[in-house]
Amino acid sequence: MAQQKNLDGYVGFASLPNQVYRKSVKRGFEFTLMVVGESGLGKSTLINSLFLTDLYSAEYPGPSHRIKKTVQVEQSKVLIKEGGVQLLLTIVDTPGFGDAVDNSNCWQPIIDHIDSKFEDYLNSESRVNRRQMPDSRIHCCLYFIAPSGHGLKPLDIEFMKRLHEKVNVIPMIAKADTLTPEECQQFKKQIMREIQEHKIKIYEFPETDDEEENRLVKKIKDKLPLAVVGSNTIIEVNGKRVRGRQYPWGVAEVENSDHCDFTILRDMLIRTHMQDLKDVTNNVHYENYRSRKLAAVTYNGVDNNKAKGQLSTKLDTVEGMSPLAQMEEERREHVAKMKKMEMEMEQVFEMKVKEKVQKLRDSEAELQRRHEQMKKNLEAQYKELEEKRRVFEEERVNWETQQRLEQQKLEATRTLEKNKKKGKIF
Ligand code: GDP
Repeated sequence: MAQQKNLDGYVGFASLPNQVYRKSVKRGFEFTLMVVGESGLGKSTLINSLFLTDLYSAEYPGPSHRIKKTVQVEQSKVLIKEGGVQLLLTIVDTPGFGDAVDNSNCWQPIIDHIDSKFEDYLNSESRVNRRQMPDSRIHCCLYFIAPSGHGLKPLDIEFMKRLHEKVNVIPMIAKADTLTPEECQQFKKQIMREIQEHKIKIYEFPETDDEEENRLVKKIKDKLPLAVVGSNTIIEVNGKRVRGRQYPWGVAEVENSDHCDFTILRDMLIRTHMQDLKDVTNNVHYENYRSRKLAAVTYNGVDNNKAKGQLSTKLDTVEGMSPLAQMEEERREHVAKMKKMEMEMEQVFEMKVKEKVQKLRDSEAELQRRHEQMKKNLEAQYKELEEKRRVFEEERVNWETQQRLEQQKLEATRTLEKNKKKGKIF
């Protein structure tokens, strides 16, 4: 069962809703982080520092302290809530590797664990509604490199090469406080050179159209491998309480970006790239697994994985079907599902086009109607004005006639009076 933790500080995953649909908010988020590296490199301490939870404590120490000298995979779950958003975080720790004298194949239990999670997902995929399906696939793997200052060990190279086919690998320099800043810079350059030389494919931060995002990605890329410091101790620095490691010459602060890349790692994991890490897991690593698995069955006619004794599979026993028939059935289901989705998308598209055409028609008709209305109004106004003009003209003519008559009358009266004065008698 997951432990529930109330957080004192602010981790930042409350911003997750911006990364995915609101639906996921209701369900909560699931994220699985794997830490890989020799024991004693500070993996458990870093996990505690990252999620502000004491997943490991004196009573319940990290796997390295409980399980000695075995390579065994340990899983802890923690449900953390922030701002109404809940995150079910699974930490997969891989204790003790590198301790043994013979380290050959020490990655196998880890690779098997990653595969078994893919297998679980594949098995549940055909049975459960995808949305309700728990996703315990490994979304990110932090690979801890010892702060030796002398580049990668052959074991690191082998290990990362095994991992990169299956999971998003992010290389880290452990306990960076044990190196001076100059040594750390040199070490980073050397590691990146070796990663390139050996064609190790670490997680590729996505490029986008957004300039600001690209600047952020470049900032992270320039810092790779991320140099981290972890601590479970709170120390007071200039009156502020911070996580850090006390030295006679000062404090190495976990969350101070001048001291290490811890905050870059936390922001990247939680605020900016959690969704992309999940997408790449689903679209690249899981699809690779799935197609390899299908190819192994369909092309050779036998379940090669089974023949090799790998990947114990529930598929063998389900509903009394042979694995071959089961895989074929799943393939058919998948093809049918894709066809259905395609059809649904086409239908939606057609519907949208129809709606748009109808809307255009409606607005055209509306425009036409308004045009007719305006035309009618104008004609009515025109007629009214014409009528007024006619009436006015009539009045004017009448008035002018009236005026003329008045004038004539006046003139006649004047003539009469003039004649009277002259003594003319009619
Ligand atoms: P794990 O075996 O990888 O899980 O390592 P732990 O987290 O148990 O740490 C092993 C030891 O290293 C402990 O004594 C820690 O206090 C110490 N440690 C953890 N992180 C750091 C770090 O960043 N710097 C230094 N100098 N020591 C650390």
